[in-house]
Amino acid sequence: MSVRVRDRSAELGARAVGITPGGVHSNVRLAGPGVFFERGEGAWLFDADGNDYVDYLLGQGPNFLGHAPAVVNNAVAGAARRGSVFGAQHSLENEAGELFLDSVGWAERVRFGVTGTEVDQAALRLARAATGRSKFVRFEGTYHGWLDNMLVTTVDGVTGPASAGQLAHHLDDTYFLPYNDIAALSATLAERDDVAAVIAEPVMCNSGAIVPRDGYLQQVRQLCDRHGVVLIFDEVITGFRLALGGAAERFGVTPDLGVYGKAMAGGWPVAALAGKAELMDMFAGGVNHSGTFNSSVPACAAVTAALTALREDPPYKRVEDHGAKLMAGIRELGASHGVPVRVQGLPMAFHVSFGDPDQVWDYAGMARLDQVRYARFAEVLVDHGVWVAPRGIWYVSAAHSERELEVVLQRFEAALGDFVAG
Ligand code: PMP
Repeated sequence: MSVRVRDRSAELGARAVGITPGGVHSNVRLAGPGVFFERGEGAWLFDADGNDYVDYLLGQGPNFLGHAPAVVNNAVAGAARRGSVFGAQHSLENEAGELFLDSVGWAERVRFGVTGTEVDQAALRLARAATGRSKFVRFEGTYHGWLDNMLVTTVDGVTGPASAGQLAHHLDDTYFLPYNDIAALSATLAERDDVAAVIAEPVMCNSGAIVPRDGYLQQVRQLCDRHGVVLIFDEVITGFRLALGGAAERFGVTPDLGVYGKAMAGGWPVAALAGKAELMDMFAGGVNHSGTFNSSVPACAAVTAALTALREDPPYKRVEDHGAKLMAGIRELGASHGVPVRVQGLPMAFHVSFGDPDQVWDYAGMARLDQVRYARFAEVLVDHGVWVAPRGIWYVSAAHSERELEVVLQRFEAALGDFVAG
């Protein structure tokens, strides 16, 4: 199978470094292989040199309906003819909001935003306002955006700032705990009376797709109730992907606040904070949450169209079947080539790496995996026409069918063969 030549991407990349730092507009992309894409369609991407890629990154998650879903894009184009933002309410907001709340199931109010990063901040501020307490509990290995009080890296069990220019004291308000360790959370909440919120990625898709142990989230819920702590689920990845009602529905645990993004708007930049009315209505009573582009006309059209599509033709079973077959296929290819490929997570968002095949339950366990080697392999996959991230997360969309499954497994096998030989 031919390895992709990317001369045009290389030219564009050389030009880009004189325009934007590192040639990329988001630091996450610095680790990428420098491909410039021309367009996406369904489960496929096409680069500037005309190469095709079967896509299992979905733009880091948003393209859950596949690229350029006609129902969403037509709705956005139609709505945008009426304008974009008015500095006031408009007639598409209520429909998008009602559909959103009805889909999430447990939440009584929603505020639309643009990025997960800022909506996470709104959730944390609300929790502080509601409790009058200052601190947060979060879990090692989670990502809640790139701002000073949330961006972290954990090395040898010690969590600290992840960026130059980020001061250590920005993290003073946070207690970092291992995920899936209910004793650690119980002890912290018993010892401290200053915890405003526990914020969790219910499935730690930003670190190895670590799933909650049976009953863990229920116990987290109980502890938060006992100590008067606001429970925030950061469902930016899991929302509308694990189920229409996200992780809350899938695991049967209701948070007080939920942060959403990515899959909720068919690839368009929309995020949301949802929650119980008594908390959320504080935004109309002294707690500030603002944004020029919040609930723009195209954003509301995108949300309504995407959620309507997810409700009228729920893709969840298809996505789950595809992902389960793909996870099994990858494991088999690893075994048949004698390579310790390991796969973990849920079929709609799973993690691939090399190393210890056991289930990993927390971030410390990730140290047993050979992620550096996998990152090199991910580049070989890209060269063979499988678009995936070096950090190992794979996403499945509603547009992935049997054909894509066949193609990706063929390409994976060819890439593995080259990788082992090289
Ligand atoms: N929370 C989680 C769980 C995320 O995965 C991300 C982004 N990957 C964010 C928050 C931040 O979202 P955004 O990139 O839209 O700011």
